[in-house]
Amino acid sequence: MPRLLIQNALVIDPARKLEKKLNLFIEDGLIKSVGTGYPGTARGSFEIYDASGLWLMPGLIDMHVHTREPGMETAEDLKSSARAAAAGGFTSILAMANTEPPVDNPALIRRLRAKAEGLPVNIYFSAAVTCGRSGRDLADLEALKNAGARAFTDDGACVADFGLLKKALRLAKKLKTPVMEHAESLALTGSGIMHDCARARRLKVPGIPREAEVFMVLRDLLLAGSTGGPLHLQHVSCRESARLVTAAKKAGFNVTAETCPHYFTLTCENVKDAAFKMKPPLREGSDRAALKKGLADGTIDVIASDHAPHSAAEKAKGLLKAPFGVIGLETTLGLALTELFYKGSVSRIRLAELMSANPARILGLKKKGRLAPGMDADLTLIDPLARYRVPPRFYSKSVNSPFVGRRLKGRVAATIVGGRFVFRDGRFL
Ligand SMILES: [Zn+2]
Repeated sequence: MPRLLIQNALVIDPARKLEKKLNLFIEDGLIKSVGTGYPGTARGSFEIYDASGLWLMPGLIDMHVHTREPGMETAEDLKSSARAAAAGGFTSILAMANTEPPVDNPALIRRLRAKAEGLPVNIYFSAAVTCGRSGRDLADLEALKNAGARAFTDDGACVADFGLLKKALRLAKKLKTPVMEHAESLALTGSGIMHDCARARRLKVPGIPREAEVFMVLRDLLLAGSTGGPLHLQHVSCRESARLVTAAKKAGFNVTAETCPHYFTLTCENVKDAAFKMKPPLREGSDRAALKKGLADGTIDVIASDHAPHSAAEKAKGLLKAPFGVIGLETTLGLALTELFYKGSVSRIRLAELMSANPARILGLKKKGRLAPGMDADLTLIDPLARYRVPPRFYSKSVNSPFVGRRLKGRVAATIVGGRFVFRDGRFL
């Protein structure tokens, strides 16, 4: 195994609230030491990487990625997801279970885990809460956990049946594995395709009321309260949802929440075409402000991309007919830096919590999310001053991003997984 000394980086460790120019030494795929000067253990030959001017964070973890494998490989697959993740600065991702067929049985999880081995980043898998994601019968959560599932989710839809979700949360508590909920009442969404607002009326498209999310967030939180959780709310988009999560946390519920870059960057006023169509939809300025506040004050725990690739042909069907979803693996870090750090709402340490430490904790990845001896040497080096426009080409197989052409500041300089550079200076190694 290569030995590597990263010199002169601004080391950002959220676990110790540390921000200091230090050297980090890697051996056998693990962090060996973090300190000044040369590490005492470093005898013999090792590679030196001068990281002057760069930030060094524990490897970023995206806990909401649609890898589309099996079944929808024209849009994405495990390999292209892993490459897009590495190019975006992520060292680990959690794959969603709404594939074709859905990941609802242990054999499929095992097969996918074997297939993901040797890819540039770590891919972890979630499993469906219900058989076939049909919402009728609970999947065998214990067997799925034993096969390696890191979370249970019917994402793409919520678990509509109240009793079934309650049962799932009880089991999830026993299994110490979160249920991740896509909080949406389909009855309230109806035929809606964007947020119910003046812009939707101007574009003459049916709206999705905020109640479609807020009502289910309230239901999910109440059930987390009565069962003891663990509940993770996916892609929170409404100000009311953030307020409810604050209250639930105050009451001591076992609850975490994520939001995505499009919700803290854009609003429904930006919607032009199908590249801006996702679920939940882009909301209003007051929602965006509430989410930014929630990211800063601890209400929202995680920034996740909800990377949802769709082929160009599918998205070309137009705002009304195209499928919901946008890609995000390659733009999330730049947007978080530009919209949150550089606009002064979150610190570097908070960013490392939102994008690494908290997802590691929620998914039970005990050797990730902080920079200490013995931890996995999964690292993200960031060039904070890089200025660029989001290019129209991606490592993802799909290009359905609303951010093409947008000016960003700050991006990945290198991605290190298990002590090895997998992506550096815009190239794969
Ligand atoms: Zn979803």
